[in-house]
Amino acid sequence: MVGHMHFKVGDTVTIRTGKDRTKVGKVERIIKATNRAIVGGLNVAKVHLKPGRSHPQGGIIDKAASLHVSNLMIVCPRCSRPTRAKIKTHTNGRTRICSKCKEALND
Ligand SMILES: [Zn+2]
Repeated sequence: MVGHMHFKVGDTVTIRTGKDRTKVGKVERIIKATNRAIVGGLNVAKVHLKPGRSHPQGGIIDKAASLHVSNLMIVCPRCSRPTRAKIKTHTNGRTRICSKCKEALND
């Protein structure tokens, strides 16, 4: 499992565990060093801001915390099902294939 990152920024993903497991979001950032990803709308935590120049009153913002990629599954744009991407190697490179409907996932 080490060495392959089957997710890309912009992928629609869902999470397999936790309170957000029925939600979907878009991958915003991938942290390869730790195999984690930031997904918009998933694993959001309230962050309290101290009053400062940009927020004179302080405040609370929603900030997405990173998720380990092993907890994420791609939502296939063709069949709309959570799926594992399979990598198909060919002469021009690699294509990610939906393991459910066998269609290519957009790269
Ligand atoms: Zn599919």
